[in-house]
Amino acid sequence: MAKHTVTLIPGDGIGPEITHAMTRVVEAAGVDIEWERVDAGAEVMDRYGTPLPDHVLESIRRNKVAIKGPITTPVGTGFRSVNVALRKELDLYACLRPSFTIPGTGARYDDVDLVIVRENTEDLYAGIEFEEGSEGAKRLIELIAADGAGTIRPDSGISVKPISVSATQRIVRFAFDYAIANGRKKVTAVHKANIMKHTDGLFLRVAREVAEEYAGSGIEFEDYIVDATCMQLVLHPEQWDVLVLPNLYGDIVSDLAAGLIGGLGIAPGANIGDECAVFEPVHGSAPKYAGKDMANPTAEILSAVLMLKHIGEREAAERVLAAVRTVLAEDVRVTYDIMRTRTGSTEGCVGTQAYADAIIEAMA
Ligand code: NAP
Repeated sequence: MAKHTVTLIPGDGIGPEITHAMTRVVEAAGVDIEWERVDAGAEVMDRYGTPLPDHVLESIRRNKVAIKGPITTPVGTGFRSVNVALRKELDLYACLRPSFTIPGTGARYDDVDLVIVRENTEDLYAGIEFEEGSEGAKRLIELIAADGAGTIRPDSGISVKPISVSATQRIVRFAFDYAIANGRKKVTAVHKANIMKHTDGLFLRVAREVAEEYAGSGIEFEDYIVDATCMQLVLHPEQWDVLVLPNLYGDIVSDLAAGLIGGLGIAPGANIGDECAVFEPVHGSAPKYAGKDMANPTAEILSAVLMLKHIGEREAAERVLAAVRTVLAEDVRVTYDIMRTRTGSTEGCVGTQAYADAIIEAMA
């Protein structure tokens, strides 16, 4: 029997190619893993009547750990994002997105080392929406007017932004616990509390209360307005450490942070709950590159590095990370996106699997 069984969801678009590259690299690192492969997304709709069949959730609940490729959310088909549903169903409340400079990527900065902790279960991502002209939207508009809370134009669509004390407490505690466990020095709560007093204001108040609980931990605490955060991230990315954010800001600032380190192709992520963890890159399914052996699998491979650490395979995680660093720093065999940031042209780049070959060679 393999030492670890991990649920593998290849996803769609570039997902199957980059997850294939990832499994090859992880296996070459000598880890004894059995991949329990299951599929989710639009392609399984016909077979199971849902993009997220029960057996996928059961597999993750049983194995406690999954790694996935990106899954497309078709526009205008009525089904909500499988990625969001997965996080909700498994209560994967913490989204962890480390952004650190790897020399050789051609990134604009050479000293980024920050971690984004994004709340994953509420905020405008809660999926509570009212279509323009619907009965629900009309009732809500009337209720808000009757309550004296404000006037909403009758031709408005409405999305609801819930932020709770309990979800804020657990995400901020997660950020502090992560900071302590990983030798970090500072946690910054990011918000727009000056404008949204009852949601972001609550987030900030609770974050401050939780910070009090950690007063003796040696971890510094500060808070920052989200727009100022974006500017400061671009001006002085080296000053940031652990950032904890509500869902939507976390989503946006994660992509900004990916830009600081050379792009989405190298930004890994993890969605973590009390029971299960699902690892996946920050980027999406990049449909225009699907099946072309072009996409950069680094983000997927670095997501596997996070997964290996999570399952206690620290040595293998370090081996894979070191090999990725070696190839990016020293090898000409890199994918189109890295070549483009390095040289301004994609000429001389290699494909997804050839790049994975280079990483495997670097581990030998
Ligand atoms: P995307 O798939 O992240 O791609 C946007 C651009 O980022 C690509 O065109 C490419 O830019 C670059 N990129 C992304 N991944 C890359 C990789 N591995 N290697 C090299 N370059 C990469 O964003 P999108 O086009 O907005 O989203 C496509 C679909 O993915 C949507 O249906 C969305 O809902 C879904 N999505 C899924 C997840 C998930 O599964 N967790 C997350 C986000 C989005 P260049 O063309 O400039 O090189």
